[in-house]
Amino acid sequence: MNVEIIKCLKDNYSYLVIDSNNNALIVDPGEAEPLIKVIDKKKVNLKFILNTHHHFDHIGGNEELKKKYKAQIVGFKNDKDRIPGIDIFLSDNEIWKSGDFEAQIIYIPGHTSGHIAFYFYKNEILFSGDTLFSLGCGRVFEGTNKEMYESLSKLKNLPLNTKIYCGHEYTYNNSLFCMKYDNKNIELKKKIIEIGKKIKRNEPTIPSTIKEELECNIFLRAKSTEEFSKLRDLKDNF
Ligand code: ZN
Ligand code: FE
Repeated sequence: MNVEIIKCLKDNYSYLVIDSNNNALIVDPGEAEPLIKVIDKKKVNLKFILNTHHHFDHIGGNEELKKKYKAQIVGFKNDKDRIPGIDIFLSDNEIWKSGDFEAQIIYIPGHTSGHIAFYFYKNEILFSGDTLFSLGCGRVFEGTNKEMYESLSKLKNLPLNTKIYCGHEYTYNNSLFCMKYDNKNIELKKKIIEIGKKIKRNEPTIPSTIKEELECNIFLRAKSTEEFSKLRDLKDNF
Protein backbone atom coordinates (compact mmCIF):
# COMPACT_ATOMS: atom_id res chain seq x y z
CA MET A 1 0.00 0.00 0.00
CA ASN A 2 1.42 3.29 -1.11
CA VAL A 3 0.34 6.68 0.26
CA GLU A 4 0.61 9.78 -1.92
CA ILE A 5 0.36 13.08 -0.09
CA ILE A 6 -1.63 15.67 -2.02
CA LYS A 7 -1.88 19.30 -0.98
CA CYS A 8 -5.38 20.79 -1.12
CA LEU A 9 -6.80 24.25 -0.43
CA LYS A 10 -4.53 26.35 1.78
CA ASP A 11 -2.92 23.87 4.16
CA ASN A 12 -4.97 20.67 3.88
CA TYR A 13 -3.63 17.26 3.02
CA SER A 14 -5.59 14.65 1.13
CA TYR A 15 -4.16 11.20 0.71
CA LEU A 16 -4.31 8.89 -2.27
CA VAL A 17 -3.76 5.31 -1.12
CA ILE A 18 -2.92 2.79 -3.84
CA ASP A 19 -2.79 -0.99 -3.45
CA SER A 20 -0.79 -3.55 -5.43
CA ASN A 21 -3.66 -4.01 -7.93
CA ASN A 22 -3.74 -0.30 -8.76
CA ASN A 23 -6.98 0.19 -6.86
CA ALA A 24 -7.09 3.39 -4.89
CA LEU A 25 -8.89 5.28 -2.20
CA ILE A 26 -8.78 8.90 -1.13
CA VAL A 27 -8.86 10.17 2.42
CA ASP A 28 -10.49 13.59 2.94
CA PRO A 29 -10.66 15.24 -0.48
CA GLY A 30 -10.71 18.93 0.37
CA GLU A 31 -11.20 19.70 -3.31
CA ALA A 32 -11.38 17.56 -6.45
CA GLU A 33 -8.98 19.17 -8.90
CA PRO A 34 -5.53 18.38 -7.42
CA LEU A 35 -6.70 14.81 -6.82
CA ILE A 36 -8.02 14.32 -10.36
CA LYS A 37 -4.62 15.36 -11.68
CA VAL A 38 -2.80 12.68 -9.68
CA ILE A 39 -5.43 9.96 -10.24
CA ASP A 40 -5.33 10.47 -14.00
CA LYS A 41 -1.55 10.73 -14.16
CA LYS A 42 -1.10 7.52 -12.18
CA LYS A 43 -3.98 5.80 -13.96
CA VAL A 44 -5.31 4.23 -10.77
CA ASN A 45 -8.88 3.00 -10.24
CA LEU A 46 -10.44 5.16 -7.59
CA LYS A 47 -12.81 2.93 -5.63
CA PHE A 48 -13.47 4.75 -2.37
CA ILE A 49 -13.48 8.14 -0.73
CA LEU A 50 -13.00 8.05 3.05
CA ASN A 51 -14.02 10.99 5.22
CA THR A 52 -12.73 11.49 8.77
CA HIS A 53 -15.35 14.19 9.46
CA HIS A 54 -17.83 16.48 7.77
CA HIS A 55 -15.95 19.82 7.63
CA PHE A 56 -15.92 21.36 4.14
CA ASP A 57 -12.13 21.22 3.84
CA HIS A 58 -12.32 17.41 4.14
CA ILE A 59 -15.37 16.64 1.98
CA GLY A 60 -15.23 19.42 -0.64
CA GLY A 61 -14.23 17.02 -3.43
CA ASN A 62 -16.66 14.21 -2.52
CA GLU A 63 -19.43 14.69 -5.09
CA GLU A 64 -17.24 15.54 -8.07
CA LEU A 65 -14.87 12.63 -7.49
CA LYS A 66 -17.72 10.22 -6.81
CA LYS A 67 -19.38 11.16 -10.07
CA LYS A 68 -16.23 11.16 -12.18
CA TYR A 69 -14.85 7.82 -10.98
CA LYS A 70 -17.98 6.09 -9.69
CA ALA A 71 -16.34 5.80 -6.30
CA GLN A 72 -18.16 5.01 -3.08
CA ILE A 73 -18.09 7.37 -0.14
CA VAL A 74 -17.31 5.94 3.28
CA GLY A 75 -17.98 7.74 6.56
CA PHE A 76 -19.32 7.57 10.10
CA LYS A 77 -22.95 6.48 10.33
CA ASN A 78 -23.99 9.25 12.74
CA ASP A 79 -22.77 11.84 10.22
CA LYS A 80 -24.77 10.43 7.32
CA ASP A 81 -26.71 13.69 7.00
CA ARG A 82 -23.58 15.85 6.89
CA ILE A 83 -21.30 13.84 4.62
CA PRO A 84 -22.25 14.54 1.01
CA GLY A 85 -22.83 11.45 -1.13
CA ILE A 86 -22.18 8.92 1.64
CA ASP A 87 -22.74 5.27 0.57
CA ILE A 88 -21.14 3.17 3.31
CA PHE A 89 -21.97 3.80 6.97
CA LEU A 90 -19.36 2.92 9.57
CA SER A 91 -19.53 2.28 13.32
CA ASP A 92 -16.95 2.59 16.07
CA ASN A 93 -14.46 -0.31 16.14
CA GLU A 94 -15.79 -1.79 12.94
CA ILE A 95 -13.35 -3.35 10.49
CA TRP A 96 -13.92 -1.95 7.02
CA LYS A 97 -12.32 -3.90 4.20
CA SER A 98 -12.20 -4.18 0.46
CA GLY A 99 -9.48 -6.07 -1.40
CA ASP A 100 -6.14 -5.12 0.12
CA PHE A 101 -7.65 -2.25 2.09
CA GLU A 102 -8.37 -3.12 5.67
CA ALA A 103 -8.97 -0.54 8.37
CA GLN A 104 -10.32 -0.36 11.87
CA ILE A 105 -12.65 2.55 12.56
CA ILE A 106 -11.76 4.45 15.73
CA TYR A 107 -14.41 6.88 16.96
CA ILE A 108 -12.64 10.00 18.26
CA PRO A 109 -15.14 12.79 19.02
CA GLY A 110 -14.09 16.25 20.20
CA HIS A 111 -13.21 18.28 17.11
CA THR A 112 -16.64 17.26 15.79
CA SER A 113 -19.19 14.91 17.32
CA GLY A 114 -18.80 12.46 14.43
CA HIS A 115 -15.04 12.37 13.92
CA ILE A 116 -13.39 9.02 13.16
CA ALA A 117 -9.88 7.80 12.40
CA PHE A 118 -9.00 5.08 9.90
CA TYR A 119 -6.40 2.69 11.24
CA PHE A 120 -4.90 0.42 8.59
CA TYR A 121 -3.43 -1.94 11.14
CA LYS A 122 -1.72 -4.33 8.71
CA ASN A 123 0.16 -1.39 7.22
CA GLU A 124 0.62 0.48 10.52
CA ILE A 125 -0.94 3.62 9.09
CA LEU A 126 -3.38 5.99 10.80
CA PHE A 127 -5.43 8.72 9.14
CA SER A 128 -6.20 11.01 12.04
CA GLY A 129 -8.06 13.88 10.34
CA ASP A 130 -8.28 16.98 12.52
CA THR A 131 -7.96 15.16 15.84
CA LEU A 132 -4.25 14.39 16.11
CA PHE A 133 -1.82 16.63 14.25
CA SER A 134 1.94 16.47 14.25
CA LEU A 135 2.87 18.28 17.50
CA GLY A 136 -0.72 19.36 18.07
CA CYS A 137 -4.38 18.45 18.11
CA GLY A 138 -7.59 19.83 16.65
CA ARG A 139 -9.69 22.54 18.19
CA VAL A 140 -12.60 21.30 20.24
CA PHE A 141 -15.62 22.53 18.28
CA GLU A 142 -18.51 20.17 18.97
CA GLY A 143 -17.33 18.06 21.85
CA THR A 144 -15.84 18.61 25.28
CA ASN A 145 -12.21 18.73 26.33
CA LYS A 146 -12.84 15.48 28.17
CA GLU A 147 -13.97 13.80 24.95
CA MET A 148 -10.96 15.14 23.06
CA TYR A 149 -8.59 13.99 25.79
CA GLU A 150 -10.14 10.52 25.71
CA SER A 151 -10.03 10.39 21.91
CA LEU A 152 -6.33 11.27 21.93
CA SER A 153 -5.78 8.65 24.62
CA LYS A 154 -7.20 5.99 22.28
CA LEU A 155 -4.69 6.98 19.60
CA LYS A 156 -1.84 7.05 22.13
CA ASN A 157 -2.26 3.31 22.63
CA LEU A 158 -1.60 2.39 19.01
CA PRO A 159 1.73 0.68 18.21
CA LEU A 160 4.68 3.07 18.38
CA ASN A 161 5.66 2.60 14.75
CA THR A 162 2.23 3.62 13.45
CA LYS A 163 2.59 6.34 10.83
CA ILE A 164 0.27 9.30 11.31
CA TYR A 165 -1.23 11.08 8.32
CA CYS A 166 -3.25 14.08 9.53
CA GLY A 167 -5.54 16.62 7.90
CA HIS A 168 -3.37 19.74 7.88
CA GLU A 169 0.17 21.03 7.61
CA TYR A 170 0.20 22.81 10.96
CA THR A 171 3.44 21.35 12.23
CA TYR A 172 5.60 24.47 12.25
CA ASN A 173 3.12 26.59 14.19
CA ASN A 174 2.47 23.66 16.53
CA SER A 175 6.20 23.32 17.16
CA LEU A 176 6.38 26.93 18.37
CA PHE A 177 3.68 26.20 20.94
CA CYS A 178 5.35 22.98 22.12
CA MET A 179 8.67 24.83 22.48
CA LYS A 180 7.09 27.61 24.51
CA TYR A 181 5.75 25.22 27.15
CA ASP A 182 8.17 22.29 26.91
CA ASN A 183 11.50 23.85 26.00
CA LYS A 184 13.69 21.32 27.82
CA ASN A 185 12.42 18.42 25.74
CA ILE A 186 15.42 17.10 23.81
CA GLU A 187 13.38 14.84 21.52
CA LEU A 188 11.22 17.83 20.61
CA LYS A 189 14.27 19.89 19.71
CA LYS A 190 15.55 17.06 17.50
CA LYS A 191 12.20 16.75 15.76
CA ILE A 192 12.04 20.49 15.15
CA ILE A 193 15.41 20.35 13.38
CA GLU A 194 14.06 17.60 11.08
CA ILE A 195 10.86 19.58 10.49
CA GLY A 196 12.91 22.66 9.58
CA LYS A 197 14.84 20.70 6.94
CA LYS A 198 11.64 19.41 5.36
CA ILE A 199 10.01 22.81 5.28
CA LYS A 200 13.13 24.28 3.68
CA ARG A 201 12.92 21.64 0.94
CA ASN A 202 9.21 22.45 0.55
CA GLU A 203 8.29 18.90 1.62
CA PRO A 204 5.42 17.82 3.88
CA THR A 205 6.36 17.25 7.53
CA ILE A 206 3.94 14.30 7.40
CA PRO A 207 3.89 11.43 8.27
CA SER A 208 4.81 11.50 11.92
CA THR A 209 4.68 8.42 14.16
CA ILE A 210 2.99 7.60 17.44
CA LYS A 211 6.43 7.27 19.03
CA GLU A 212 7.49 10.75 17.94
CA GLU A 213 4.21 12.28 19.03
CA LEU A 214 4.35 10.62 22.45
CA GLU A 215 7.82 12.05 22.90
CA CYS A 216 7.22 15.52 21.46
CA ASN A 217 3.52 16.47 21.28
CA ILE A 218 2.65 18.38 24.43
CA PHE A 219 -1.05 17.48 24.08
CA LEU A 220 -0.24 13.77 24.25
CA ARG A 221 1.95 14.36 27.27
CA ALA A 222 -0.94 15.79 29.30
CA LYS A 223 -1.84 13.32 32.05
CA SER A 224 -5.40 14.42 32.84
CA THR A 225 -8.38 16.18 31.27
CA GLU A 226 -7.55 19.23 33.42
CA GLU A 227 -3.98 19.41 32.15
CA PHE A 228 -5.19 18.90 28.60
CA SER A 229 -7.87 21.62 28.92
CA LYS A 230 -5.31 24.13 30.15
CA LEU A 231 -3.10 23.46 27.13
CA ARG A 232 -6.02 23.60 24.70
CA ASP A 233 -7.08 27.00 26.09
CA LEU A 234 -3.53 28.33 25.84
CA LYS A 235 -3.23 27.08 22.24
CA ASP A 236 -6.56 28.62 21.25
CA ASN A 237 -5.14 31.99 22.22
CA PHE A 238 -1.60 31.38 20.95
ZN1 ZN B 1 -12.05 19.95 10.73
FE1 FE C 1 -9.75 20.63 8.66
